[in-house]
Amino acid sequence: MTDAADARLMDAYDAALFDLDGVIYLGPVAVPGAVEVVAELGATGKGVMFVSNNAAPSPDTVVTKLQRLGFAAERGNVLTSAQVAADALAEVLPAGSKVLVAGSASLAGLIAEAGLTPVASADDEPVAVLQGYDPVLAWPLLDEVCLAIARGAIWYATNDDASRPTDRGLVPGAGGMIAAVGSVIPGTPTTFGKPHRPMMAEAVRRTGAERPLFVGDRIDTDIVGANNAGMDSLMVFSGAHGKHDLIATGPGERPSYIGADIGALLQPPRRANLTGQIASCDSQQAVAEESRIVLTTTPDSVTTQLDALWAIAVLAWSAPYLDATGALELLDLLP
Ligand SMILES: [Mg+2]
Repeated sequence: MTDAADARLMDAYDAALFDLDGVIYLGPVAVPGAVEVVAELGATGKGVMFVSNNAAPSPDTVVTKLQRLGFAAERGNVLTSAQVAADALAEVLPAGSKVLVAGSASLAGLIAEAGLTPVASADDEPVAVLQGYDPVLAWPLLDEVCLAIARGAIWYATNDDASRPTDRGLVPGAGGMIAAVGSVIPGTPTTFGKPHRPMMAEAVRRTGAERPLFVGDRIDTDIVGANNAGMDSLMVFSGAHGKHDLIATGPGERPSYIGADIGALLQPPRRANLTGQIASCDSQQAVAEESRIVLTTTPDSVTTQLDALWAIAVLAWSAPYLDATGALELLDLLP
Protein backbone atom coordinates (compact mmCIF):
# COMPACT_ATOMS: atom_id res chain seq x y z
CA MET A 1 0.00 0.00 0.00
CA THR A 2 1.20 3.43 -0.90
CA ASP A 3 0.87 6.01 1.83
CA ALA A 4 -1.82 8.46 0.67
CA ALA A 5 0.57 11.32 1.39
CA ASP A 6 3.05 9.85 -1.08
CA ALA A 7 0.51 9.33 -3.85
CA ARG A 8 1.11 11.18 -7.10
CA LEU A 9 -1.42 13.86 -8.04
CA MET A 10 -2.45 11.90 -11.15
CA ASP A 11 -3.20 8.76 -9.11
CA ALA A 12 -6.62 10.20 -8.22
CA TYR A 13 -7.61 10.76 -11.89
CA ASP A 14 -8.12 8.55 -14.92
CA ALA A 15 -7.40 11.11 -17.66
CA ALA A 16 -5.48 14.34 -18.15
CA LEU A 17 -6.89 16.96 -20.51
CA PHE A 18 -4.14 19.32 -21.64
CA ASP A 19 -4.33 22.84 -22.96
CA LEU A 20 -1.54 23.21 -25.52
CA ASP A 21 0.24 26.57 -25.68
CA GLY A 22 1.95 27.34 -22.38
CA VAL A 23 1.36 23.80 -21.07
CA ILE A 24 2.59 21.29 -23.67
CA TYR A 25 4.60 23.64 -25.86
CA LEU A 26 5.72 27.25 -25.97
CA GLY A 27 5.28 28.28 -29.59
CA PRO A 28 7.57 26.00 -31.60
CA VAL A 29 9.26 24.11 -28.69
CA ALA A 30 8.02 21.55 -26.15
CA VAL A 31 7.87 22.61 -22.49
CA PRO A 32 10.95 20.94 -20.92
CA GLY A 33 10.06 17.52 -19.51
CA ALA A 34 6.52 17.52 -20.94
CA VAL A 35 7.16 14.76 -23.48
CA GLU A 36 8.36 12.39 -20.72
CA VAL A 37 5.43 13.21 -18.42
CA VAL A 38 2.82 12.56 -21.13
CA ALA A 39 4.60 9.32 -22.10
CA GLU A 40 4.55 8.18 -18.45
CA LEU A 41 0.81 8.90 -18.18
CA GLY A 42 0.17 6.86 -21.31
CA ALA A 43 2.33 4.00 -20.03
CA THR A 44 0.33 3.85 -16.78
CA GLY A 45 -3.02 3.69 -18.61
CA LYS A 46 -4.17 7.26 -18.07
CA GLY A 47 -6.26 8.90 -20.79
CA VAL A 48 -4.58 11.84 -22.54
CA MET A 49 -6.41 14.50 -24.58
CA PHE A 50 -4.94 17.63 -26.15
CA VAL A 51 -7.50 20.44 -26.12
CA SER A 52 -6.93 23.67 -28.06
CA ASN A 53 -9.14 26.73 -28.55
CA ASN A 54 -7.20 27.76 -31.67
CA ALA A 55 -9.62 27.14 -34.55
CA ALA A 56 -7.21 28.13 -37.34
CA PRO A 57 -4.99 25.03 -37.79
CA SER A 58 -6.56 21.75 -38.87
CA PRO A 59 -6.65 18.93 -36.29
CA ASP A 60 -4.14 17.06 -38.49
CA THR A 61 -1.76 20.03 -38.36
CA VAL A 62 -1.96 19.97 -34.55
CA VAL A 63 -1.33 16.20 -34.51
CA THR A 64 1.69 16.60 -36.79
CA LYS A 65 3.16 19.36 -34.62
CA LEU A 66 2.71 17.30 -31.43
CA GLN A 67 4.27 14.23 -33.06
CA ARG A 68 7.22 16.28 -34.33
CA LEU A 69 7.83 17.47 -30.74
CA GLY A 70 7.79 13.84 -29.53
CA PHE A 71 4.25 13.46 -28.12
CA ALA A 72 2.13 10.37 -28.80
CA ALA A 73 -0.66 12.29 -30.53
CA GLU A 74 -3.20 11.05 -33.05
CA ARG A 75 -6.46 12.37 -34.48
CA GLY A 76 -8.36 10.61 -31.68
CA ASN A 77 -6.74 12.54 -28.83
CA VAL A 78 -6.62 16.03 -30.32
CA LEU A 79 -9.65 18.31 -30.02
CA THR A 80 -9.91 21.89 -31.32
CA SER A 81 -12.76 24.36 -30.84
CA ALA A 82 -13.28 24.17 -34.62
CA GLN A 83 -14.12 20.44 -34.40
CA VAL A 84 -16.51 20.99 -31.50
CA ALA A 85 -18.25 23.85 -33.34
CA ALA A 86 -18.61 21.91 -36.60
CA ASP A 87 -20.03 18.85 -34.83
CA ALA A 88 -22.42 21.01 -32.76
CA LEU A 89 -23.72 22.90 -35.81
CA ALA A 90 -24.26 19.61 -37.65
CA GLU A 91 -26.42 18.48 -34.74
CA VAL A 92 -28.69 21.54 -34.63
CA LEU A 93 -28.91 22.43 -38.35
CA PRO A 94 -30.49 20.29 -41.09
CA ALA A 95 -27.97 18.48 -43.32
CA GLY A 96 -26.74 20.66 -46.19
CA SER A 97 -27.61 23.93 -44.43
CA LYS A 98 -25.60 26.92 -45.63
CA VAL A 99 -23.17 28.31 -43.04
CA LEU A 100 -21.26 31.55 -43.60
CA VAL A 101 -17.75 30.68 -42.36
CA ALA A 102 -15.58 33.62 -41.27
CA GLY A 103 -12.50 31.61 -40.36
CA SER A 104 -9.69 29.52 -41.79
CA ALA A 105 -9.93 27.20 -44.79
CA SER A 106 -9.59 24.34 -42.31
CA LEU A 107 -12.71 25.53 -40.44
CA ALA A 108 -14.69 25.67 -43.70
CA GLY A 109 -13.41 22.16 -44.47
CA LEU A 110 -14.65 20.83 -41.11
CA ILE A 111 -18.07 22.40 -41.74
CA ALA A 112 -18.22 20.61 -45.12
CA GLU A 113 -17.04 17.33 -43.50
CA ALA A 114 -19.89 17.69 -40.99
CA GLY A 115 -22.41 17.67 -43.85
CA LEU A 116 -23.10 21.40 -44.00
CA THR A 117 -22.44 23.82 -46.85
CA PRO A 118 -19.87 26.57 -46.19
CA VAL A 119 -20.59 29.86 -48.00
CA ALA A 120 -18.87 33.26 -48.05
CA SER A 121 -21.62 35.79 -48.78
CA ALA A 122 -24.75 36.97 -46.97
CA ASP A 123 -26.44 36.88 -50.40
CA ASP A 124 -26.12 33.07 -50.31
CA GLU A 125 -28.77 33.24 -47.55
CA PRO A 126 -26.90 31.24 -44.89
CA VAL A 127 -28.97 30.05 -41.91
CA ALA A 128 -25.98 30.42 -39.59
CA VAL A 129 -22.71 32.32 -39.27
CA LEU A 130 -19.60 30.74 -37.71
CA GLN A 131 -16.71 32.98 -36.71
CA GLY A 132 -13.32 31.43 -35.96
CA TYR A 133 -9.76 32.66 -35.65
CA ASP A 134 -8.04 33.29 -38.98
CA PRO A 135 -4.71 35.13 -39.07
CA VAL A 136 -5.40 36.32 -42.65
CA LEU A 137 -9.10 37.11 -42.26
CA ALA A 138 -10.23 39.65 -44.86
CA TRP A 139 -12.28 42.56 -43.48
CA PRO A 140 -15.02 42.30 -46.18
CA LEU A 141 -15.95 38.92 -44.66
CA LEU A 142 -16.90 40.72 -41.44
CA ASP A 143 -19.30 42.82 -43.54
CA GLU A 144 -20.92 39.59 -44.76
CA VAL A 145 -21.13 38.29 -41.17
CA CYS A 146 -22.98 41.42 -40.00
CA LEU A 147 -25.33 41.44 -43.00
CA ALA A 148 -26.15 37.73 -42.64
CA ILE A 149 -26.92 38.02 -38.93
CA ALA A 150 -29.03 41.13 -39.54
CA ARG A 151 -31.02 39.07 -42.08
CA GLY A 152 -31.69 36.36 -39.50
CA ALA A 153 -28.74 33.94 -39.55
CA ILE A 154 -27.87 32.42 -36.15
CA TRP A 155 -24.57 33.76 -34.76
CA TYR A 156 -21.95 31.21 -33.64
CA ALA A 157 -18.24 31.44 -32.78
CA THR A 158 -15.67 28.71 -32.19
CA ASN A 159 -14.15 30.49 -29.17
CA ASP A 160 -13.92 33.99 -27.74
CA ASP A 161 -10.33 34.41 -26.52
CA ALA A 162 -9.74 38.17 -26.49
CA SER A 163 -6.02 37.89 -27.19
CA ARG A 164 -3.51 35.50 -28.69
CA PRO A 165 0.03 35.26 -27.28
CA THR A 166 2.86 35.35 -29.83
CA ASP A 167 6.63 35.53 -29.46
CA ARG A 168 6.33 39.28 -30.25
CA GLY A 169 3.57 39.98 -27.71
CA LEU A 170 -0.23 39.87 -27.50
CA VAL A 171 -2.35 40.29 -30.64
CA PRO A 172 -6.16 40.20 -31.09
CA GLY A 173 -7.68 36.71 -30.90
CA ALA A 174 -11.04 35.39 -32.08
CA GLY A 175 -12.68 37.61 -29.46
CA GLY A 176 -11.39 40.67 -31.34
CA MET A 177 -13.17 39.57 -34.50
CA ILE A 178 -16.35 38.91 -32.51
CA ALA A 179 -16.07 42.36 -30.92
CA ALA A 180 -15.85 43.98 -34.37
CA VAL A 181 -19.15 42.33 -35.32
CA GLY A 182 -20.53 43.14 -31.86
CA SER A 183 -20.06 46.83 -32.57
CA VAL A 184 -22.90 46.48 -35.08
CA ILE A 185 -24.88 43.45 -33.91
CA PRO A 186 -26.39 43.42 -30.40
CA GLY A 187 -25.76 40.38 -28.18
CA THR A 188 -23.09 37.70 -28.34
CA PRO A 189 -22.63 34.51 -30.37
CA THR A 190 -23.16 31.00 -29.05
CA THR A 191 -19.59 29.88 -28.36
CA PHE A 192 -18.07 26.40 -28.00
CA GLY A 193 -14.41 26.67 -26.90
CA LYS A 194 -13.03 26.91 -23.36
CA PRO A 195 -14.29 28.15 -20.89
CA HIS A 196 -17.67 27.18 -22.36
CA ARG A 197 -19.08 23.77 -21.53
CA PRO A 198 -19.41 22.13 -24.98
CA MET A 199 -15.67 21.79 -25.49
CA MET A 200 -14.96 20.46 -22.00
CA ALA A 201 -17.88 18.02 -22.24
CA GLU A 202 -16.71 16.73 -25.63
CA ALA A 203 -13.13 16.28 -24.38
CA VAL A 204 -14.39 14.21 -21.45
CA ARG A 205 -16.74 12.21 -23.69
CA ARG A 206 -13.90 11.33 -26.07
CA THR A 207 -11.64 10.05 -23.28
CA GLY A 208 -14.47 8.15 -21.58
CA ALA A 209 -13.00 9.44 -18.33
CA GLU A 210 -14.87 9.35 -15.04
CA ARG A 211 -12.32 11.38 -13.07
CA PRO A 212 -10.67 13.77 -15.55
CA LEU A 213 -8.23 16.51 -14.56
CA PHE A 214 -7.79 19.62 -16.68
CA VAL A 215 -4.29 21.09 -16.96
CA GLY A 216 -3.97 24.70 -18.12
CA ASP A 217 -1.99 27.91 -17.90
CA ARG A 218 -4.83 30.43 -18.30
CA ILE A 219 -7.37 31.14 -15.58
CA ASP A 220 -10.06 32.72 -17.78
CA THR A 221 -10.27 29.83 -20.26
CA ASP A 222 -8.71 26.67 -18.74
CA ILE A 223 -9.42 26.96 -15.02
CA VAL A 224 -12.82 28.65 -15.34
CA GLY A 225 -13.69 26.11 -18.05
CA ALA A 226 -12.79 23.21 -15.77
CA ASN A 227 -14.88 24.71 -12.97
CA ASN A 228 -17.81 25.28 -15.35
CA ALA A 229 -17.65 21.58 -16.25
CA GLY A 230 -17.34 20.44 -12.62
CA MET A 231 -13.80 19.16 -13.23
CA ASP A 232 -10.72 19.46 -11.02
CA SER A 233 -7.83 21.46 -12.48
CA LEU A 234 -4.08 21.97 -12.25
CA MET A 235 -2.77 25.47 -13.01
CA VAL A 236 0.79 25.41 -14.30
CA PHE A 237 3.20 28.35 -14.31
CA SER A 238 4.89 27.54 -17.64
CA GLY A 239 2.60 29.79 -19.68
CA ALA A 240 0.42 32.89 -19.64
CA HIS A 241 -0.70 33.44 -16.06
CA GLY A 242 1.31 33.81 -12.87
CA LYS A 243 1.15 34.39 -9.13
CA HIS A 244 -0.68 37.73 -9.24
CA ASP A 245 -3.37 36.29 -11.53
CA LEU A 246 -3.85 33.37 -9.12
CA ILE A 247 -4.26 35.56 -6.04
CA ALA A 248 -6.69 37.89 -7.88
CA THR A 249 -9.13 35.08 -8.72
CA GLY A 250 -12.66 35.05 -7.33
CA PRO A 251 -14.77 32.04 -6.36
CA GLY A 252 -15.32 29.87 -9.45
CA GLU A 253 -11.98 30.91 -10.96
CA ARG A 254 -9.63 28.97 -8.68
CA PRO A 255 -7.66 25.84 -9.59
CA SER A 256 -7.67 22.68 -7.47
CA TYR A 257 -3.86 22.51 -7.63
CA ILE A 258 -0.85 24.54 -8.76
CA GLY A 259 2.49 23.37 -10.14
CA ALA A 260 5.53 24.70 -11.97
CA ASP A 261 4.67 22.62 -15.04
CA ILE A 262 2.98 19.33 -15.93
CA GLY A 263 5.68 17.47 -13.99
CA ALA A 264 3.43 18.22 -10.98
CA LEU A 265 1.13 15.42 -12.19
CA LEU A 266 3.74 12.86 -11.15
CA GLN A 267 4.40 14.43 -7.73
CA PRO A 268 2.30 14.45 -4.55
CA PRO A 269 -0.38 17.14 -4.70
CA ARG A 270 0.29 20.40 -2.89
CA ARG A 271 -2.10 20.79 0.04
CA ALA A 272 -2.57 23.84 2.25
CA ASN A 273 -4.04 24.06 5.74
CA LEU A 274 -5.82 27.12 7.02
CA THR A 275 -6.32 27.68 10.75
CA GLY A 276 -7.71 31.08 11.60
CA GLN A 277 -5.37 33.49 9.85
CA ILE A 278 -2.43 31.09 9.53
CA ALA A 279 -2.00 29.13 6.32
CA SER A 280 0.65 26.50 5.74
CA CYS A 281 1.74 24.31 2.86
CA ASP A 282 4.49 21.77 3.48
CA SER A 283 7.31 23.76 5.17
CA GLN A 284 5.92 27.19 4.24
CA GLN A 285 3.66 29.43 6.31
CA ALA A 286 1.75 32.64 5.60
CA VAL A 287 0.07 34.68 8.34
CA ALA A 288 -2.04 37.84 8.59
CA GLU A 289 -0.22 40.75 10.19
CA GLU A 290 -2.54 43.75 10.54
CA SER A 291 -3.83 44.28 6.98
CA ARG A 292 -1.03 42.41 5.23
CA ILE A 293 -0.08 38.81 4.49
CA VAL A 294 3.50 38.00 5.50
CA LEU A 295 5.59 34.86 5.18
CA THR A 296 7.13 33.50 8.37
CA THR A 297 9.43 31.31 6.26
CA THR A 298 12.02 32.01 3.56
CA PRO A 299 11.29 30.09 0.35
CA ASP A 300 14.42 29.93 -1.80
CA SER A 301 13.54 27.39 -4.51
CA VAL A 302 10.78 27.10 -7.10
CA THR A 303 9.22 24.25 -5.10
CA THR A 304 9.19 26.09 -1.77
CA GLN A 305 8.02 29.29 -3.48
CA LEU A 306 5.06 27.38 -4.95
CA ASP A 307 4.33 25.98 -1.48
CA ALA A 308 4.46 29.54 -0.08
CA LEU A 309 2.24 30.81 -2.91
CA TRP A 310 -0.37 28.13 -2.20
CA ALA A 311 -0.37 29.13 1.49
CA ILE A 312 -0.67 32.81 0.56
CA ALA A 313 -3.49 32.02 -1.88
CA VAL A 314 -5.54 30.04 0.64
CA LEU A 315 -5.18 32.82 3.21
CA ALA A 316 -5.85 35.65 0.72
CA TRP A 317 -8.99 33.93 -0.63
CA SER A 318 -10.33 33.45 2.89
CA ALA A 319 -9.74 37.10 3.77
CA PRO A 320 -9.86 39.27 0.61
CA TYR A 321 -9.20 42.47 2.60
CA LEU A 322 -5.61 41.34 3.29
CA ASP A 323 -2.87 42.75 1.04
CA ALA A 324 -0.64 39.99 -0.37
CA THR A 325 1.57 42.27 -2.49
CA GLY A 326 4.61 42.26 -0.20
CA ALA A 327 4.58 38.49 0.29
CA LEU A 328 4.24 37.88 -3.45
CA GLU A 329 7.27 40.06 -4.15
CA LEU A 330 9.42 37.57 -2.25
CA LEU A 331 8.46 34.83 -4.71
CA ASP A 332 10.99 36.03 -7.25
CA LEU A 333 11.43 32.65 -8.99
CA LEU A 334 7.76 32.51 -10.07
CA PRO A 335 6.19 34.42 -12.98
MG1 LIG B 1 -2.55 28.00 -22.90
